[in-house]
Amino acid sequence: MPDAVVIGSGINGLVAGAMLALDGWQITVVEASDRLGGAIRTDTEVFDGYTVELMSSWHPLFVGGPAFAELEAELSRRGVTYLNTDKPTAVACADGTALLSTDPDATNAAFESLGDLSSWSSCMAEFGSKIDLAFGLLGTDFWRRSAAKFGWTAARRLGRRGVVASGAELLEPASTWLRRDFESPVSRALLAPWALHNGLGPDDASSAFITKVIAAALSQGGMPVPEGGGIRLVDALVGIITNNGGTAVTGTAVTAIEVDGKRVTGARLADDTVLSANTVLASVGPRALYEGLLGQAPGVPAEHVTAASKFTYGRAAMQIHLALSDPPAWTDAALGEAAIVHVLDGLDSVSASVNAAWRGHLPARPTVAVGQPLTVDPSRAPDGGGLLWLQLQELPREVRGDDAGSIDPGDGSWGPATRDAFAERAIDQLRPHITNLDAAIIDRLVLGPAELQDLNVNLVGGDPYGGDCRAHQFAAWRPLSSATGHATGIDGLWHIGASTHPGPGLGGGSGYLVASRLRDQRRRRRFGRRPTGRSSHG
Ligand SMILES: Cc1cc2nc3c(=O)[nH]c(=O)nc-3n(C[C@H](O)[C@H](O)[C@H](O)COP(=O)(O)OP(=O)(O)OC[C@H]3O[C@@H](n4cnc5c(N)ncnc54)[C@H](O)[C@@H]3O)c2cc1C
Repeated sequence: MPDAVVIGSGINGLVAGAMLALDGWQITVVEASDRLGGAIRTDTEVFDGYTVELMSSWHPLFVGGPAFAELEAELSRRGVTYLNTDKPTAVACADGTALLSTDPDATNAAFESLGDLSSWSSCMAEFGSKIDLAFGLLGTDFWRRSAAKFGWTAARRLGRRGVVASGAELLEPASTWLRRDFESPVSRALLAPWALHNGLGPDDASSAFITKVIAAALSQGGMPVPEGGGIRLVDALVGIITNNGGTAVTGTAVTAIEVDGKRVTGARLADDTVLSANTVLASVGPRALYEGLLGQAPGVPAEHVTAASKFTYGRAAMQIHLALSDPPAWTDAALGEAAIVHVLDGLDSVSASVNAAWRGHLPARPTVAVGQPLTVDPSRAPDGGGLLWLQLQELPREVRGDDAGSIDPGDGSWGPATRDAFAERAIDQLRPHITNLDAAIIDRLVLGPAELQDLNVNLVGGDPYGGDCRAHQFAAWRPLSSATGHATGIDGLWHIGASTHPGPGLGGGSGYLVASRLRDQRRRRRFGRRPTGRSSHG
């Protein structure tokens, strides 16, 4: 009988499993897919000689987060090496190009040439003075005593009026902030697309805050990736679990969570085997948990079931992978050195594209995030070759129309014709910026919303972020508006993953928070003190 069953081997499940394994727990990870890692899927077969991150690729959230700080020595012992770049991001927009660097002089020079140096400097100085509070807010478990301590620290530092003013700053949309504080359309286009990487759009509440957090993180921490691909991190995390007596099984779905009254007793697998356990961590969406795995279990609080039924998913994504015979020849050669270049018209096109997606329309001028993995890890392609990881994040989950009026939405289901026509629209946007694109493409792979969901059942409708990330479904309201945190109302059953606080990304935040809590509980029990955090909270 394992001490804990972890359902799903995404970053959160593996971080939690590894932390608990190091604390002496026997962990069993059960993964439905044939590969471990969830949205980390490194592939060496799709293009001969190339290492491709089919889905997530960039690890600044992990390297900058608490899970890495805690596991770093164990990971490095198992061969995980992070490579980095001093040029994390750049933009190519209708009004020009710009590059953001970890070298403050270079970034200041870029903003100076755009006429926005004082805006950038004062933003970073002001935001930088409370960046620990910003990261603290994103990393706090709202349902533990430490949250009160965090609130107290913020109140003491900022004062009553400061807290209220920070609330307004926290809610401000990026478009308002960028139009007010930055003169140049290039500065705005450099920063605005980063809101997309947290599932937001530039007109959404809190998108200024998220964009500032990301801008500060990139300009200080660069764009780390594991040498050889995310698989190295997955293998090492699984190694920590198995080296400490645990197991990880693939190709096996958990079909039900077993509950006795108000207490979890185990997980039922597809072949009807039951893994008995007093602790289960479920890295699935809220509907999959409350409507699927828990079924009609009588002990589950009705308000959680109702709240889960109201959980909504966000926009869809598309990944396009291009194997190139040569490095991309950017018209502005400096862009060839940036890890991620956003290619777009400008701030307005991001707003329009996000709005189109929410209306069910294909955007006419989508924002293309052009990832260049070789700028950080040259080992991922044959010598002299090129590799592009393109991400599109302004897609409707169901297609009802096309803002450009040229793609037939068909039955709305993202079939191959819609997928490939839209991929071609995105690639076409790169042509003015990358002069050798057509000549250099050896092979391409397009993963539309349907293919993403096929790879990972948690990516419902191709939503890469496990649910709508707008303010009403974030922080204290993630995963449920009934404010459960990671607790489920069933003792011993914990909800983790991108659908839960602190949301999506490779930080492993929810796995870290729940594992820390479980570890503290067990330590308190060992030393004969009453546990303070019951999983049935909420
Ligand atoms: C295309 C794409 C690109 C991205 N790029 C980046 C990036 O570069 N950097 C970044 O920080 N973030 C990125 N993200 C976001 C980030 O990858 C995800 O938010 C994160 O990986 C989600 O981790 P998770 O722990 O929620 O689990 P997931 O990765 O969603 O994995 C959950 C696992 O649980 C399994 N599972 C579900 N139900 C069951 C069941 N009943 N039984 C057994 N197993 C089950 C699934 O098969 C899956 O493998 C990207 C996401 C996508 C989709």
